[in-house]
Amino acid sequence: MSGNFYSVRCSDCENEQVVFGKAATEVSCAVCGTTLARPTGGKAEIEHEVLETVESR
Ligand SMILES: [Zn+2]
Repeated sequence: MSGNFYSVRCSDCENEQVVFGKAATEVSCAVCGTTLARPTGGKAEIEHEVLETVESR
């Protein structure tokens, strides 16, 4: 079983990036390097705007 993915827009540079909803490590923006999500021991906490949820298949 796997979690969802989220399409997140970086509020610093407006890069859109897909982030795994259960990321175990911090996820950084590929463009500017700011932290997009950080692990909270289960579900990742996403610190930027979530554009859409992508259900895994
Ligand atoms: Zn960015």
